[in-house]
Amino acid sequence: MSLISSYLSTRTECSCGALHEITTQQVDIGPEVIQNLGAAYQTCFSVPAGEITLFADRNTFEVAGPQALESLSTSGLDCRVVILEPESGHQDVEATADRVDEVEKNIDPSGFPPIAIGSGTVGDLVKLAAFRAGLPYAMVGTALSMNGYASGIAAILEDGLKKTISCQQASLILLDSSILLTAPPDMTAAGVGDLLSKPVSHADWTLASWVRDTPYCPASIHPVSDATHQVIDRVDAIAAKDPSALSALSESLVLSGFSMALAGSSSPASGGEHLISHYLDMEQHAQNQPIRAFHGFQVALGTRLSLELYRRLRDIDPKTIDIESALSEHPPTYEALRNRIERDHAHLPPPIRECIQEESKAGWISTEEKREELEKIRDLWDPMWERLEPILEDSHRIAHAQGVVGCPRTPEEAGIPRPDLRRALLLSADMRNRYTILHFCRDLGLLSRWSENILETVFPD
Ligand SMILES: [Zn+2]
Ligand SMILES: [Zn+2]
Repeated sequence: MSLISSYLSTRTECSCGALHEITTQQVDIGPEVIQNLGAAYQTCFSVPAGEITLFADRNTFEVAGPQALESLSTSGLDCRVVILEPESGHQDVEATADRVDEVEKNIDPSGFPPIAIGSGTVGDLVKLAAFRAGLPYAMVGTALSMNGYASGIAAILEDGLKKTISCQQASLILLDSSILLTAPPDMTAAGVGDLLSKPVSHADWTLASWVRDTPYCPASIHPVSDATHQVIDRVDAIAAKDPSALSALSESLVLSGFSMALAGSSSPASGGEHLISHYLDMEQHAQNQPIRAFHGFQVALGTRLSLELYRRLRDIDPKTIDIESALSEHPPTYEALRNRIERDHAHLPPPIRECIQEESKAGWISTEEKREELEKIRDLWDPMWERLEPILEDSHRIAHAQGVVGCPRTPEEAGIPRPDLRRALLLSADMRNRYTILHFCRDLGLLSRWSENILETVFPD
């Protein structure tokens, strides 16, 4: 039995105290699996006949729509196709709150589960709209560009901020390698780029559990950690479009989605490196500009910055941590925090600054609590590193993988000006009340100091 099938439709009471649940019932990966869509749909949803609504955009329908319709029709299922068009002035469909409403209007809550054909955007829209309509759904992937196929989280743009909204996992997921092979190579590279971040996401999640006593569960990270290392080992074959390597990448992306579902949050798959990417996107949206590069490209660059932060921290003698100096940078009141956010994020529109204020306020602790936290960090330094070191990847291996699969290896290759990346590194920790390596370095008074030359170290000219 494959690792994926061992998780399907499972509920486990875990020793971590949480109930881990995977509601995905079936995952088909391999060549021509789309021919099985109709039969798989009938098995999963016990629908012998009826009219199914199928959502796609023009591009995703072109590569997978006809085969999907043929398979459904062979099984006696009728289809109503809804093609999502980009908003005027935009090149691509975006996962915005308005588009979720539009998709939801096209779903009959008393009807049959809808099918999403696409990758990130169409998937996120159908995921949330189906959840609101109280229906399960199926997902047919068209690119290996992200790890959201099996996650129960939708990333939706609202008021200029990307929000992650908990909904439900797809009941049925089909990743047909003959279709995925036709996707632009950049999209596959972006999926690898996103997976390259998992060691630092995992390290950040571990770090948060040490410093802030937040929930952490090794059983939730287990499905994806081995799979990630296998993908890194096989980047040459992925770049060469070897079908078995693409299947391994597909499995890893599904397992990454499972790890988020098991954890009940995106924590195992999204740490400080994701915040850097989200901040870059948010700045672009605020100026009504398209994002600079694929999510996975930005995340992989952020991963290398995170790894350098971890490397520099590892060289510190904990006895030299100057707690008083670090505390002098800590805002002692909500008011002081508010003023700092207003000043640091002054270039962003007021509604976005308001959201950042709320997130930062939720994570704020008093100076006395901060002192205790810093003392704990100093006292537990060595055992903490014993946990972190085996998780972290070698930065050279990440850079090598980026180069082989075609991810940009420098900010310039990704079209990101260095001052923008530096600003995202410095400020993105304010965006989310979830402790990461960025918060850790900032609390120790090191982030602003290191940000001055870290880009030059990680990405030499
Ligand atoms: Zn657990
Ligand atoms: Zn990601």
